[in-house]
Amino acid sequence: MIELEGLTKRYGEKLAVNNLTFAVRPGIVTGFLGPNGAGKSTTMRMMLGLDNPTAGDVRIDGKHYAQLKDPLTYIGALLDAKAMHGGRSAFNHLLCLAQSNGIPRARVAEVLDTVGLTPVARKKAKGFSLGMGQRLGIAGALLGDPRILMFDEPVNGLDPEGIHWIRNLMKSLAGQGRTVFVSSHLMSEMALTADHLVVIGQGHLLADTSMSDFIEQNSRSYVRLRSPQQERLLDVLHEAGITVVEAGNGTLEVDGGSPEKLGELAATHQLVLHELSPQQASLEEAFMRLTAETVEYHAHTDEPGMTPPVQEPPLARPGWGESWDRAKDEGAR
Ligand code: ADP
Ligand code: MG
Repeated sequence: MIELEGLTKRYGEKLAVNNLTFAVRPGIVTGFLGPNGAGKSTTMRMMLGLDNPTAGDVRIDGKHYAQLKDPLTYIGALLDAKAMHGGRSAFNHLLCLAQSNGIPRARVAEVLDTVGLTPVARKKAKGFSLGMGQRLGIAGALLGDPRILMFDEPVNGLDPEGIHWIRNLMKSLAGQGRTVFVSSHLMSEMALTADHLVVIGQGHLLADTSMSDFIEQNSRSYVRLRSPQQERLLDVLHEAGITVVEAGNGTLEVDGGSPEKLGELAATHQLVLHELSPQQASLEEAFMRLTAETVEYHAHTDEPGMTPPVQEPPLARPGWGESWDRAKDEGAR
């Protein structure tokens, strides 16, 4: 269980994370969704004690990260796996991590097997492909057999096979009763993996809901109507007790309407229709609607010529120090 209470991070003028309160529960995959720049990585870094909150609090099973003894056995994280590991072999990289965290040596071979890297265990990690680097990062996260796992945009830049593998891994980890927290800027990705959804925009909490509720509330079907006689059409629809939304650009939307009925109604009143089309709003659209305001707000407040964010030096923390590479994260946006 991860609990956030009023978690806030300010970088100068910029409120990167603004008063976030939510909990990440065990046994399910919780998706952490938000557009680029929403504050996902900053939040995750604070959860791992890699960045200090300006205000508020994060607790891992009731404790602050710094209070955890052998933290890798509580929480494993993949922050930025795009960064390549150094000249050590995959095996030695994991062995060093294990030794500095009180984890038995035998775990190294086990996690290499889990992520499918056994055949290349003795190869230098810097020659690894993106997908292999990602798997090595995940092996590091799994090393301490932690009850809590955190993945920051794990599928970014992976091939379909790698993406499929990561999705299944996250589901099986949750199936074992672990807490799995995974970020993405893609609704389509979350729809496939997450059981629960936490959505943020500009550092604010926008939604904290089960995936099924989110789908139910947002995947509305409607009929789109356009008519050169829009005023009359509106009157006719109102008289028939049909609720209409004026969607701009001369289009009307009728939630859950039947195109047959609407077409016949228009015909009865001799109204010309230029469009009568059943529509299904995608989850992606729902996500865009939800975050639209915060994105606009962003565009308004960013001063022209504002300098890019200051990069923080990499932190020497076993487990993710080596995979920490802000520059690449920025470059991937
Ligand atoms: P996400 O991971 O959702 O894309 P981030 O947490 O990386 O978002 O960034 C949130 C906001 O905080 C962005 O506007 C980003 O530019 C800013 N930011 C992140 N890290 C720093 C930093 N070290 N210094 C200044 N601003 C930062
Ligand atoms: Mg990020």
